[in-house]
Amino acid sequence: MKYRTLGKTGEKVSILGFGAMRLPHFKNNNQINVEESDKILSYGIENGINLVDTAYSYHANNLSGKGNCEEYLGNFLDENSYRDEVLLSTKLPSWLIKSKEDMENIFEQQLKDLKTDSIDLYMLHSLNEDYWKMFRELDVFEFLDEILSSGKAKHVGFSAHTEMDWIVDIVDDYDKFEFGLTQLNYLDERYQSGKEGVEYLASHGLGTMIMEPLRGGRLVQNVPQDIMELWDMAEEKRTPLEWAFQYLWNMEEVNTVLSGMNSLDQVKENIEIAEKSEINSISENDMEIIKEVAWEYKQRRGNDCTGCGYCMPCPNGVDVAGCFREYNVAKMLNDPAGSAMHYFSLDNGTRADSCIHCDDCLNHCTQMINISEDLKKVEEFFGKKYTYF
Ligand code: SF4
Ligand code: SF4
Repeated sequence: MKYRTLGKTGEKVSILGFGAMRLPHFKNNNQINVEESDKILSYGIENGINLVDTAYSYHANNLSGKGNCEEYLGNFLDENSYRDEVLLSTKLPSWLIKSKEDMENIFEQQLKDLKTDSIDLYMLHSLNEDYWKMFRELDVFEFLDEILSSGKAKHVGFSAHTEMDWIVDIVDDYDKFEFGLTQLNYLDERYQSGKEGVEYLASHGLGTMIMEPLRGGRLVQNVPQDIMELWDMAEEKRTPLEWAFQYLWNMEEVNTVLSGMNSLDQVKENIEIAEKSEINSISENDMEIIKEVAWEYKQRRGNDCTGCGYCMPCPNGVDVAGCFREYNVAKMLNDPAGSAMHYFSLDNGTRADSCIHCDDCLNHCTQMINISEDLKKVEEFFGKKYTYF
């Protein structure tokens, strides 16, 4: 296994981290299959993975509930004496917080469930503009100061699905953040904070953790023939999985990549790829191939929205750019379920079903999109209610 330093935390972290959001589980109730999960986590740790990442909500039965992943991991690490072998990372569920007491109560519950006195890497989960404003109003800084000074958290950071401006604000607002977890893969260089966000964090000394390296597996499952033909033109012969990881590990700004692994074969394969990876080793020609593959995937998108926002604010509150962003990603990857989660996390009243088709925005689109018509397609595609649980 290879290791890099996680920014100012100073921790040596394996470049492949074990994301525990998709552990082997029973289909009917999302309950973790303990025997299988023990097996794959043990293999990962015995073979050099020293970062295990979870969250309050992982392996929950609904979007807002508490999951059973932390409790499972607490038992697993304790019973197998692995706690001191790994950096344990977990997150405060921003969507459940209404007061400082909520932060304290949930944090204490997490320590108890994880059977630990101290969490190595503690994050505010899934920050965006609304959650960050809410946390600022509730003086989250006092809470973070307290868990740091008491030693109950060794390092604090955040995970974020947001645009670049908010990454800058978050980093500026609290100078004790030591790392950030953001989404990046070769398709998402410009999605959310993308590559620029990772470079920004690194340039400010923060550790960088990457999520969605495979876009929930979509970059490696059922790869279309024309895309396989492009990969075949690369100078270096790699599988789509190897390309997806190497694209990330090629960047020295990337410290660790979290992968939600759920089988022993996946863990073995990912570890092998991590061991072969090198910084700055992709040739110019192969970088062009990666761009072409990304471009080909993007041709499958639903419309040409660039997210410029010129059509907003909509008088009826519709987040036009947000709706089209999730619709396009879903079409591109043929993955309605994965994108529906992001689409339905747009606030009520801002999704496509709130469009009253007044056409006030019609002449404002920089890409000549008939917004009202395309929002009907978005509504038809995702429906009015999240139905994927
Ligand atoms: S057509 Fe829909 S999106 Fe456009 S301004 Fe009217 S309500 Fe808003
Ligand atoms: S103006 Fe057009 S391209 Fe820009 S965000 Fe609105 S729909 Fe998208």
